[in-house]
Amino acid sequence: MPLSFDNSYARLPDIFFAPVDPTPVEAPRLIRFNRALAEELGLDADMLERHGAGYFSGNVPLPGSLPLAMAYAGHQFGQFVPRLGDGRAILIGEVIDRAGKRRDIQLKGAGPTPYSRRGDGRAALGPVLREYIVSEAMHALGIPTTRALAAVSTGQPVYRDRVLPGAVFTRVAASHIRVGTFQFFAARGETDNIRILADHVIDRHYPDLKGTEKPYLALLDAVAERQAHLIARWLGVGFIHGVMNTDNMTISGETIDFGPCAFMDRYDPRTVYSSIDQHGRYAFGNQPMIGQWNIARLAEALLPILDADEDKAVEAANAAVARFMDRFQAHWKTVIRAKLGLGEDELEGDQELIRDLLVTLYEQKADYTLTFRRLADAAESSEADAALGALLETPGALTPWLAAWRERLSQDATAPETRAAAMRKVNPAFIPRNHKVEEALNAAIDDGDFSLFEALNDVLSRPYEEQPAFAAYAQPPKPGEEITATFCGT
Ligand code: AMP
Ligand code: MG
Repeated sequence: MPLSFDNSYARLPDIFFAPVDPTPVEAPRLIRFNRALAEELGLDADMLERHGAGYFSGNVPLPGSLPLAMAYAGHQFGQFVPRLGDGRAILIGEVIDRAGKRRDIQLKGAGPTPYSRRGDGRAALGPVLREYIVSEAMHALGIPTTRALAAVSTGQPVYRDRVLPGAVFTRVAASHIRVGTFQFFAARGETDNIRILADHVIDRHYPDLKGTEKPYLALLDAVAERQAHLIARWLGVGFIHGVMNTDNMTISGETIDFGPCAFMDRYDPRTVYSSIDQHGRYAFGNQPMIGQWNIARLAEALLPILDADEDKAVEAANAAVARFMDRFQAHWKTVIRAKLGLGEDELEGDQELIRDLLVTLYEQKADYTLTFRRLADAAESSEADAALGALLETPGALTPWLAAWRERLSQDATAPETRAAAMRKVNPAFIPRNHKVEEALNAAIDDGDFSLFEALNDVLSRPYEEQPAFAAYAQPPKPGEEITATFCGT
């Protein structure tokens, strides 16, 4: 028995999902298998690796699986769509991992489902590899995220704006329940199902809330808290999700859906890469606000179960939504202070110090990741100042700031080496640079060469360590190498 499934979602009422089997593919080939994750899940890694092409393409059913497509709705770029659902993803089942946590295993691109609308239910190789690289990189960065268990090529073409090789991605998640899952039932006016779903997610993701006086209001607050924390951590590493629709926001607090995502090179809060985000709704600096907007949509969906008295329900929901920004600000303060090497005790002038640095980075078109990494070196020795200055348009632009920063640091007792080491644990040397991701994807798509994909996965598995052999991966794009747009994974 390779794995023992316990499919709790399949035991929910019929309207929650549609049973559907994966559609077999012609010539599946295992591209990459995540052994460490398989072991974490308590699976038979040897067996899965040996037969991975069959299992992870959907050609060979895993014993005990109950394949299904989940129903959900969602606001896409602000527009409500009452019926979305898994149009190209099939949940094959849930396992209890070694730590006792329930985890979903899902095949993405495994064929059409009743929610496919006009789509083909398939995924192209490029987006599959992108999700593999970026979701595992996020995990290595210490940010909650869905994971990559496997990628398989199908040997079949998919038809997009051009003909592309097809692939199937095996995603692991704490669950695939989204803000949009609640919206699905709210739009149908099915209060009982909203409550059933809320009880399911409390059991699964927020067991401490069970039996509390107002569990659904507490659930709303708890989801807001996890999302506020998540978005603060995204901002800390320059991550731009790119498509924060309510169907792409999990209830568990994991990052999900890596379609048009990107990492910012030069610091600019207005940065947008997604080719479908023409108005910059999901720009880097908008993400906290959009997080709050999405939490407001969750609050609306939960309204019927928040309080028997409608006015009280609305009042409580509004208050929960209003608290989101304070939650975000508190987490962001922790993130950015750690990036600057500031201790826990806030002193007068700290906020100005933080703001002045960010303003200078913006004005100097400085690389976000590399500047903070060099700042860790500068915390140890002013000999590093030149390397830091070299990242700016005007090399001396940070000189006065560095003096003020050192003055501030001298007011706390931490030894410089200790501070620098702590800063290196929060300021990565390596992020999935867009031009490196693109280069790896193109080599795989155009030449069937997966060596760059493999190398990228390797280097990104240790983002906070100096890896001299991979120095090129730490560098921002050279002129002409910049990627200005990423495309959706459909
Ligand atoms: P996404 O942009 O991946 O968040 O997907 C948004 C919605 O479109 C979801 O309901 C997907 O299941 C659906 N979808 C995206 N691509 C396809 C496809 N190739 N075939 C069927 N449905 C799709
Ligand atoms: Mg999605």
